[in-house]
Amino acid sequence: MIKELHEKLKNKEITAVQLAEEYFDRIEKKDKEIFAYLTLTRELAMEQAKRVDEKIARGEEIEILEGIPGAIKDNLCVMDVRTTASSKILDNYIAPYDATVISKLKENGAVFLGKTNMDEFAMGSSTESSAYGPTKNPYDLERVPGGSSGGSAAAVAADEAVWALGTDTGGSIRQPASFCGAVGLKPTYGRVSRYGAIAMGSSLDQIGPITKTVEDAAIILSAIAGEDKYDATSAQSANKDYTDYLTGEVKGMRIGIIKEHLEGLDENVREVIEKVIETYKNLGAEMKEIELPYAKYSLPVYYIIMPCEVSSNLARYDGIKYGMRANDHKDTELDFNPENRTLLENYFDSRRYGLGAEVKRRIMLGTYALSAGYYDAYYLRAQKVRTLIKQDFEKAFEKVDVILTPTTPSPAFKLGEKTADPLQMYLEDIFTVIANIAGVPAISVPADPVETEGKKLPLGFQLMGKWFDEENLLRAAHAYEINK
Ligand code: GLN
Repeated sequence: MIKELHEKLKNKEITAVQLAEEYFDRIEKKDKEIFAYLTLTRELAMEQAKRVDEKIARGEEIEILEGIPGAIKDNLCVMDVRTTASSKILDNYIAPYDATVISKLKENGAVFLGKTNMDEFAMGSSTESSAYGPTKNPYDLERVPGGSSGGSAAAVAADEAVWALGTDTGGSIRQPASFCGAVGLKPTYGRVSRYGAIAMGSSLDQIGPITKTVEDAAIILSAIAGEDKYDATSAQSANKDYTDYLTGEVKGMRIGIIKEHLEGLDENVREVIEKVIETYKNLGAEMKEIELPYAKYSLPVYYIIMPCEVSSNLARYDGIKYGMRANDHKDTELDFNPENRTLLENYFDSRRYGLGAEVKRRIMLGTYALSAGYYDAYYLRAQKVRTLIKQDFEKAFEKVDVILTPTTPSPAFKLGEKTADPLQMYLEDIFTVIANIAGVPAISVPADPVETEGKKLPLGFQLMGKWFDEENLLRAAHAYEINK
């Protein structure tokens, strides 16, 4: 898709400004219903597009991403643009700097259409915890787009953006990609700088692309990857063009499958995944059964480590340094006369009114698990199991090149279906959190749709790769995509 648009721009079949206008027109028509976007950045987009058109008019060569319009998840800082992370507490926050991924995309000449809706602070699997209301799944408006990068996935699915950026702490790129028929890539921890991403769980967070095709994901990854002096956990990596690895070939590639993962699955989902396995076999890949004995602890480990990091990362939202303060809430009974209030009361009330229920739940869980007396039993223990899970992967990757699993236990569920029961919502993450725990790269690729209540709903499968081996991961994903 990006390559085709690039050719059109190069051949002057369309200008970058026209292309951006086309997307804004579609957003205007469709987004009232879908609500993928929180903020549109029309002025910025037009400025960026004009610059590309001027370059073309001067007869200069343009790079692959120049003039290609995309969307940015609202937890990534874009300078001078409102950045809320879908939380009331950041309702009026204007980012004073660009995240590293944003400066890189700007340097690459990409065009930014706007900021997308998400679960508040990226906590959720449905985009329903957004303080601004839920995004709808473009394939069925009664269903969720997944989350937390639901706005980004819906924007790509509804052709309201060519590409989008998401963040993934436990599945937030891959799960919505699965629900919206898109490709979602979570790179290796350290592959992409996290500088300027509003932190959720710092040892788990990664930024990555949501796109229509694997090739497009490879193009975006090539633009955003690399070491960054502002993120000490970002790793050295040679400047690579990841599209070079998309050969369409998987002959001899060793693909691991985990039997238990398939056994408990819903019948329809299992059929789809088994067909994916068949496709790989037909392409000459070698399917190997593997075991990850500690995988069954990944969900409990995630739901200890992540809230601990959340409780620490979100301590900064006290109503003083960022965003809104308690007395921005005019509709309360509180006495906001500063003479009658203490600093502590301001902290408490800013958080009480500024943060949503799910965010508060996680701050409390994390604070509890980190408190003296419980730290050893929960946090420390979870960290130890995390190491065991990593060792499982080390062993598995001696035998196989990539691992194939479902991305999600089912296609998109209905709005409201899981909001009353947080545990049901957390179970959405059963196949995805393990990649964040181990830090390995993982991608969700659209498989065949699943017939549900008379509708065909998209469903993805997941591939996980070795640390810093996005090359083989993307190659395997692409080979399926072009041969299925
Ligand atoms: N659904 C997961 C959660 O709620 C993952 C979120 C994410 O990856 N940001 O924690």
